Amino acid sequence: MTQPESEPQKSLKRVTWQYENCLACVWFFPTDPINADILERGKCLHPKLKAYNLIVSGRDWCNLYAEIKQKQIDNRQEKAMKAEGSK
Ligand code: SF4
Repeated sequence: MTQPESEPQKSLKRVTWQYENCLACVWFFPTDPINADILERGKCLHPKLKAYNLIVSGRDWCNLYAEIKQKQIDNRQEKAMKAEGSK
């Protein structure tokens, strides 16, 4: 018989599940790139999935995941801030 899992073990599983999610994927374009978190929704623009016009949340994921670089995040946030400033 298996032992029931302790709370820390359950939490670790949740953390693992959240690893490699859309929020950290280079193909995820959140509606609000400045404040995006795992609940943020956005478009998936992966070349193979783009045609489906998918709206995913930061906590979704798929096997086409590719980690975004910090520099790319900075560029997208700067662009969004400039766009905010020009309104
Ligand atoms: S659905 Fe897949 S490819 Fe698209 S943003 Fe999420 S992990 Fe990336």
